[in-house]
Amino acid sequence: MTQDDTPTGPEIPLADRFRRLIRNTGPMSLATFMGESNARYYGRADPLGRNREGTSGGDFVTAPEISQMFGELIGLWLADIWVRAGRPDPVHYVELGPGRGTLAKDALRSARKYGLEPRIHFVEISQPLKDIQLEMLPGAIWHDDVSTLPMDYPLLVVANEFFDALPVRQLVKTPDGWRERMVALDENDAFMFAAGTQVMDAAVPEGQRDAEVGTIVETCPAAAAIAFELAGRLAEQNGCALFVDYGYDTPRNEPRTGSTLQAVQAHKKVGPFDAPGAADMTAHVDLGTLARIAQSRDVKHLGTVGQGKWLHTLGIAARAEALKRAAPHYRAEIDTALQRLTAPDAMGNLFKVMGLVSQNWPEGAGFAPED
Ligand code: SAH
Repeated sequence: MTQDDTPTGPEIPLADRFRRLIRNTGPMSLATFMGESNARYYGRADPLGRNREGTSGGDFVTAPEISQMFGELIGLWLADIWVRAGRPDPVHYVELGPGRGTLAKDALRSARKYGLEPRIHFVEISQPLKDIQLEMLPGAIWHDDVSTLPMDYPLLVVANEFFDALPVRQLVKTPDGWRERMVALDENDAFMFAAGTQVMDAAVPEGQRDAEVGTIVETCPAAAAIAFELAGRLAEQNGCALFVDYGYDTPRNEPRTGSTLQAVQAHKKVGPFDAPGAADMTAHVDLGTLARIAQSRDVKHLGTVGQGKWLHTLGIAARAEALKRAAPHYRAEIDTALQRLTAPDAMGNLFKVMGLVSQNWPEGAGFAPED
């Protein structure tokens, strides 16, 4: 269901709006370009790839849309930790960027078998996706951002492929020092990268300031702010969080450089400037930084492990066998889904699961070193 760039009503193509803005006020930051692009992109249509019924083409496919096993095991994980935390009730299920609501539906169905029936809160900016979520989970409450989440009772937070959609800021080393990476126009009116004029050396960690000219340092202030807010809530209200995303973990704060920005349209990589507002722009998530932010607010980091390893520890192979016994016609599909979710050359290693828990809650399954 990829949309073309035809304007509807008073909406003008985002690329034209950006050009006008740059002509009038000068180069814009990459973070603004990406933030505005994704706000338009997610605001206009359902971007998610072929769902399990095969009724949508979309731009990309996420784990919950590959198989019900993904959401079910997340639900099982939540129910397990909640039971061992003493079954606090009421309790809030909070999902960030729930897409079609598929993960929530699968997770809450499996959690209910253990008596976990939380109140449901969705943080979502996309109206078309909200409409789909409403059909899936009519009892949910929607939030534009994390600031309005309830302040009472423990939180069970889940986010799958949410942080990667948040805008990144890039700094680039020039012969004159560090500058923000901006988007400008070339002589043919095409978008191009340019270094900003403002001195940005102070924004680069000291250990990285001497890097070679051309080095890029990428950060995601929006992800950091959300992790900070959620960790504060977990510390106050108790609970846990599972963040699943493709990203990297820098446990000892090792410096990392380079751009991870990419854009995807109709399952193909496109250039970041090719289709603003019509392609999904993402960047790898710096899970190490998010873990350190949580720890700075006195929340326990359970660990960050590959999605394949985590799903196997939680018993995805046994779940696949049970599904195959129940639906022998789908044996091949179930095996393919299992491979896609867990194989090292598919989503198994690139995608990581990060667990957080408040100090007085128990450890969560799947993160112990011996698991
Ligand atoms: N979790 C879903 C969807 C992933 S796509 C899945 O796994 O299938 C990213 C999701 O985050 C979409 O629901 C998108 O609309 C939402 N989103 C993107 N940026 C957002 C923002 N700034 N605030 C809230 N939701 C956002």
